[in-house]
Amino acid sequence: MREPILLTPGPLTTTLTTKSAMLRDWGSWDERFNQMTASVCADLLAIAQAQDSHVCVPLQGSGTFAVEAAIGTLLPRDGTLLVLSNGAYGQRMAQIAEVMGRAVQTLAFADDQAADPAHLASYLAAHPEVSHVGVIHCETSTGLLNPLAELAAVTAAAGRGLIIDSMSAFAALPVDARSLPFSALIASANKCLEGVPGMGFVLVERQALANAQGNSHSLALDLYDQHAYMARTGQWRYTPPTHVLAALRSALDSFIAEGGQPARLARYQDNANTLLQGLARLGLTSYLLADRQAPIIITVHAPKLADYDFTRLYQAVRARGFILYPGKLTRVETFRIGCIGAIQRHDIEQALAALAAALTDMGWQPPAQEH
Ligand SMILES: *Cc1c(COP(=O)(O)O)cnc(C)c1O
Repeated sequence: MREPILLTPGPLTTTLTTKSAMLRDWGSWDERFNQMTASVCADLLAIAQAQDSHVCVPLQGSGTFAVEAAIGTLLPRDGTLLVLSNGAYGQRMAQIAEVMGRAVQTLAFADDQAADPAHLASYLAAHPEVSHVGVIHCETSTGLLNPLAELAAVTAAAGRGLIIDSMSAFAALPVDARSLPFSALIASANKCLEGVPGMGFVLVERQALANAQGNSHSLALDLYDQHAYMARTGQWRYTPPTHVLAALRSALDSFIAEGGQPARLARYQDNANTLLQGLARLGLTSYLLADRQAPIIITVHAPKLADYDFTRLYQAVRARGFILYPGKLTRVETFRIGCIGAIQRHDIEQALAALAAALTDMGWQPPAQEH
């Protein structure tokens, strides 16, 4: 039997080609490995049209390590971070700043509401102490898309720095650094790039990085030092995630061959549309209104079954070859289905059939369809 398909927002399903790229050992001093690092960084910058304005600083660890590194490096010790929060990853960003002892404020929006640029503008006008704004591009806890271009324009007009957690959006949703100003954009190998977990990276505006020497409270998570060392030696500071980088190189080759960001977005949008239509046919409703829904992950209201239990649904769908994702909302019972990874429409159609069969076994009867 084949391995189950991951309908999760990373780790996610990768291609055999990407997995096979890990069947080789690399020396961290080897010239070819260092060239591979440089080529990956160049390609990541190009995805955001950021070659002229930013540098790419790769970092060992999961995505959160890169978020923590970006905040610790770019926020001066006496700076203040304002986090625009409408979900768990916004809360995590604020918690990161708090744990490292930096001043942090939160502008909270409801879980199903996008961050409001007008609200941000008036908040910044009233709070001159805010030096940086932190925003989650796609809030993966629901799948909500924040209006990044508008929020970036407001932040730049107010003369503050912008730190973007684009973890679950980068390479699928467009970002153009020539028209969208940001100090830092954070993402990782194992989401829309369809690599494997183990490294993140930060696209840092050149001047912002030059000004950041000595800000970091952490040795290992200092992006200034990580970049300075790499610029000087071509090597990673400390042991690189060699196999993860090789897999990312391969995943980037596939990304470019597929047609880059527009093609990736089109495939994910097709997955999301197929999923939303299929869920509606099953009588299940999605949590977000369509105009706020990113084609990354769909939050679904749990079916109204007397003895509903996500673990049972998960096991029943897993037995049919697909991995669902639990909900992350406290007030409503939901589960999530990812649209990203090396999957396409027919995988989503099969997943919908698996979900339908599992629900039928659990006694689910779709409500009568309206005409
Ligand atoms: C996945 C994700 C992260 C990082 O999570 P890790 O588990 O540390 O990789 C951060 N922010 C967002 C929005 C994410 O989707």
